[in-house]
Amino acid sequence: MNFLAAASVAYERNMAQLKAYKEKQTQEDAELKERMGKIKHKIAIISGKGGVGKSTVTVNLATAFAMQGKQVGILDADIHGPSVPRLLGLEGKQVKASPVGAFPIEGALGMKIMSIDFFLNEASPTIWRGPLKMRAIKQFLSEVVWGELDYLFIDLPPGTGDEPLSVAQLLPEMDGVVIVTMPTQLSSSIVKKAVTFAEHLNMRTIGVVENMSGFVCPHCGKKTEIFGSGGGEKMAKEAGVPFLGSIPIDPKVGEDTDKGTPFVLSNKDSAAAKEFMKVVAKVQEFIENKK
Ligand code: ADP
Repeated sequence: MNFLAAASVAYERNMAQLKAYKEKQTQEDAELKERMGKIKHKIAIISGKGGVGKSTVTVNLATAFAMQGKQVGILDADIHGPSVPRLLGLEGKQVKASPVGAFPIEGALGMKIMSIDFFLNEASPTIWRGPLKMRAIKQFLSEVVWGELDYLFIDLPPGTGDEPLSVAQLLPEMDGVVIVTMPTQLSSSIVKKAVTFAEHLNMRTIGVVENMSGFVCPHCGKKTEIFGSGGGEKMAKEAGVPFLGSIPIDPKVGEDTDKGTPFVLSNKDSAAAKEFMKVVAKVQEFIENKK
């Protein structure tokens, strides 16, 4: 075969591959649209930094809605540090795949949970670059049998990386984001970045939650501001976004987390749960007003 003929064969092959790829993308996009169309509300939870309680807030927010009889799902989109299964006592569960897609794992109150953790062994880390992570998130949205849901809560990794970008691109109809912070100055100054980031991606900020805001001694009742307080509220005001509430440090939160039980379910009367329900009411109000 001469050079021109060989080049022509290679060209035809590349074009055929490109066509097949485009067809697959179109099919995936249609599947994503169809599956996501069955979910009434989508809310993402983000934080500027790790360890501020973002996953704890996601799981308890989802549980609070499920306690009101809503059909709820949680997508753990924290590919490198998935912790939702642990917070709900679902570690080690494995997802069942079928020709119609992968079925989420069912947690307390019938909540439907999907996480990369359900596909990994206990000790295996996810060592993935951006495109692979973006692909996984797309599959979590398009190939998971979520069914009809009232709410899908998406736990995004801390910071402003690939995952929030993918979610914003794939779910332009998303209701908004909840930003979790701590009262320390460093954490709250990052709130501004998170708000600007959400704005850039055209995602509405539902509001800011200040977690680990003071500690009330269970013996004497005195409140100690371990990490300071009010930083989150001040920053929310400065950034022009709503403040949803402060949740105190409560050792029960940590204990319940270790047991895999959301504290709004097991410790309804604790100060943390009461404050948390105020946050839930404000998120609900946001959704109602949007309607
Ligand atoms: P992130 O998702 O931001 O990394 P996590 O939700 O995993 O943070 O929380 C980090 C740790 O802090 C967990 O051990 C959790 O139990 C604990 N924690 C979160 N919020 C509180 C709180 N209000 N009181 C006590 N412990 C908390």
